[in-house]
Amino acid sequence: MAHQQADLEPVLIMVPGVGGGQAEPRFHQADPARAQLLVTDLVATRGEGVFETLGVFDGVAMNVGPHLQRLARSAAMIDLPAPDLDLLASALDAAIAAHTAVPELTARIMMTRGVEGADAPTAWIHARTAEDYSAARRGMRVVMLDRGIPTTVAGTSPWLLAGAKTLSYAGNLAALREARRRDAEDVLYVSSDGWCLEGPTSTLLVRRGNTFTTTPTEAGVLPGTTVATVLTALEQDGRTTSRELMRPQDVLDSDGAWLLSSGRLAVPITRLDDRELPVDAELTARMNAAASGRG
Ligand code: PLP
Repeated sequence: MAHQQADLEPVLIMVPGVGGGQAEPRFHQADPARAQLLVTDLVATRGEGVFETLGVFDGVAMNVGPHLQRLARSAAMIDLPAPDLDLLASALDAAIAAHTAVPELTARIMMTRGVEGADAPTAWIHARTAEDYSAARRGMRVVMLDRGIPTTVAGTSPWLLAGAKTLSYAGNLAALREARRRDAEDVLYVSSDGWCLEGPTSTLLVRRGNTFTTTPTEAGVLPGTTVATVLTALEQDGRTTSRELMRPQDVLDSDGAWLLSSGRLAVPITRLDDRELPVDAELTARMNAAASGRG
């Protein structure tokens, strides 16, 4: 038993070559149980960094290209050097190969501004056995919380970094704790101008009849990789899809709604605030087959 547990230990790959410097080797495996980060890394002192979380299903990482492109986009939004995406892809492969084969892995790609004054980003890949999401995939209670910013924020105030996947997630985690205080498990953010946005770590998808709608990224939400995969699958099944803003009442009156993300996949919302929503387990399974590459 002890041996099995050791095999399931997380894998850490440090990627000192991410910013294109002279580091050799450009990536290497490190001990995840030992300190690897300096206390003066700007991610620790200022929260300055970007990241991606990928789902790896039966050893195959989903949407590697879109995740890496989004990492590069987030990095550009905070003026980090452009990450070497080929190097990160190789390091990700190495992390998956070094981990014991399990049905579901969660792989994080992290990139920070690096140590104060050093002018070289820090990057690593951390792969670990995924949490057990089976209960969540049957459904979750969700509350709507005010995001406090309007849907125009990306255009008017790009320095607020709406739609970037930065490592300043404390506000998102605080929102999830607020949900628990309100007897719910997740959050749907609503903009200050009254539109549904996304979850703190997920994208909104809403069914109305045969049409499946998600929030347009222009509203300042993260461009989700999972929703893109699921929308393609739904279109292949002959469904209609759209990207348009929805009011809270649209979602409350809908024929079903989901929160989508790379590791947890599609989670049906069973109750939104005080309203029970219809849940279609078969359709959710179809979405999750597509989102995990098993469909
Ligand atoms: N929106 C936010 C704010 C997120 O943090 C995430 C993922 O963590 C998502 C949406 C879903 O994105 P993806 O489907 O690419 O995981």
